[in-house]
Amino acid sequence: MNIHRPRKRFGQNFLRDQHVLDRIITAAQLHEGDRILEIGPGVGALTNRLLETGLPVLAVEIDRDLGAILQKRADKNLEVVIGDVLRIDWGDLLRNPPYKLIANLPYNISSQVLFRVLEHRQSFQRLILMFQKEVGERLIAQEGSREYGILSVLMQTWFQIDRVVKVPPGAFYPPPKVDSVVLCLEPLTESRIDLVDEERYRKLVRGAFAQRRKTLRNSLLGSGWEPEHVDRAFEKTHIDPRRRGETLTLEEFGRLANALQADETGA
Ligand code: SAM
Repeated sequence: MNIHRPRKRFGQNFLRDQHVLDRIITAAQLHEGDRILEIGPGVGALTNRLLETGLPVLAVEIDRDLGAILQKRADKNLEVVIGDVLRIDWGDLLRNPPYKLIANLPYNISSQVLFRVLEHRQSFQRLILMFQKEVGERLIAQEGSREYGILSVLMQTWFQIDRVVKVPPGAFYPPPKVDSVVLCLEPLTESRIDLVDEERYRKLVRGAFAQRRKTLRNSLLGSGWEPEHVDRAFEKTHIDPRRRGETLTLEEFGRLANALQADETGA
C-alpha cells in the first residue's frame, strides 16, 4: 500500500480526531436533498463521514495523487474535481445550488476562499469550515477589537457566524503549529444592513481598513475616494472622520456607503 507523505505546500494536515469529525457532521445539519461541496478532501477522513450520510459530495482536491485515489473509489455519490479551487470557475463548479460547504481548509487559502464564498453566497446554504484560530477570531470579531477587519465586516454583513468547536494541533496528522477552530456560517436571508450599492460598500470597507493607523478620512482618501464626497457623507451621517475604521459598526459602514452613493450619483 502507498503511504501518502503529507505535502506542506498544500497545507496538508489531516484530521484524525473522531470527536472533531462528529462535531462537524452534527453542525452541518445534513438532510435528504442536501448537496455537499468539500474543498481539499485529502485522504478522505471528512469525505468518508460525509459519504456515510448517503448524500452527494462534490470534492475539489489540488493534489493529483490524492485526487486520483479518491476518483478510483468509484462511489456514485462522490464527484472529485482535481484542481486548484482558487483557479476553478465557481460558476461552473456550483452547477446545482444550493450547497453545504464543509471543509477542513488549508490555512493558506482560507481568506481567498471566503472572498469567493461572498461572491457566490446565493449558492450556499450553510458552511462548516475549519480555520486557523486567529482567522476564526477575525471572522467573529466585533468593532473596536484588534481582530476586527475587512473579513469580519463583510462576512458578518451576510452571514450569521458561530463557533462550533476549538481544535488543538493534536487533532491532525501532522500537527500544525497553531490552534484551529471550526465555525458555522449561515447565510442571512437579508443582509444585516440595507445597502443601496453592495460594490460601493465593499470598496468603502476595504478603504477604511487600508491604512489602519490612519484616521478613517485619511485611509479613505489614500484609497482613492474623493474628499468632497467623503466629507459630505461624514457630515450627513454624523460619523466623525477622525475615528479609525476599526471602530465603525456594520450599521455605520452601511450608512456611510449609502450616503457616499447618494452624494456621488446625486441621488
Ligand atoms: N479534508 C482532509 C482532512 O480533513 O483530513 C484534508 C484537509 S488538509 C488541511 C487540506 C486539503 O486541501 C489537502 O488535501 C490539500 O491537498 C488540499 N488543498 C490545498 N490547497 C488546495 C487548493 N488550492 N485547491 C483544492 N485543494 C487544496
